[in-house]
Amino acid sequence: PEVARLVASRVLDVPDFPKPGVMFKDLMPLFADGKVFREVIDGIVEYHGRDAFDVVVGIEARGFVVAAAIAYATGVGVVPVRKAGKLPRPAHSVSYELEYGEATLEVHEDAFTAGHRVLVVDDVLATGGTAEATLDLVERAGGTVTGFTVLLELGFLGGRERLTPRPVHALLTV
Ligand code: IMP
Repeated sequence: PEVARLVASRVLDVPDFPKPGVMFKDLMPLFADGKVFREVIDGIVEYHGRDAFDVVVGIEARGFVVAAAIAYATGVGVVPVRKAGKLPRPAHSVSYELEYGEATLEVHEDAFTAGHRVLVVDDVLATGGTAEATLDLVERAGGTVTGFTVLLELGFLGGRERLTPRPVHALLTV
């Protein structure tokens, strides 16, 4: 569809970032193009429907950009999931394995109202480790995950399977 083509037209492939052998997909050109950014955000909102969620969670840091725009467009609030040590008040933590080492994500303990439906968003789905940890975290904090949405899914890394049975939506899968 049109919006998938728009995403494809604004992705830059950056070889050997952040380390040798990795082809990094850079979505900054998409964020920087006002018309495309708006169409992409509208495409996400249209897919889920305006009344399908009560709050949007964005994953640090590029997920914040997407989450804030969806929240503003639909009149709901935005909750950040942050890297360890950044949140000022008591928070839940989830640690997960990276290729080398470990990462920790956190969310404020009082971030969610009971029964609120939470749409979780990020820019890119790769191995799914970040998303899996975030969905666990949201559920631990009492949120009800209604779905996980990204602009771009790297399908060959199998992240979607890792998140089963939770609904995963990508505007573009490569
Ligand atoms: P995963 O945990 O392997 O799925 O990696 C996903 C997380 O790393 C997301 O927060 C992405 O923002 C980031 N990420 C991984 N690969 C890329 C990429 O090629 N481009 C942009 N972000 C990426």
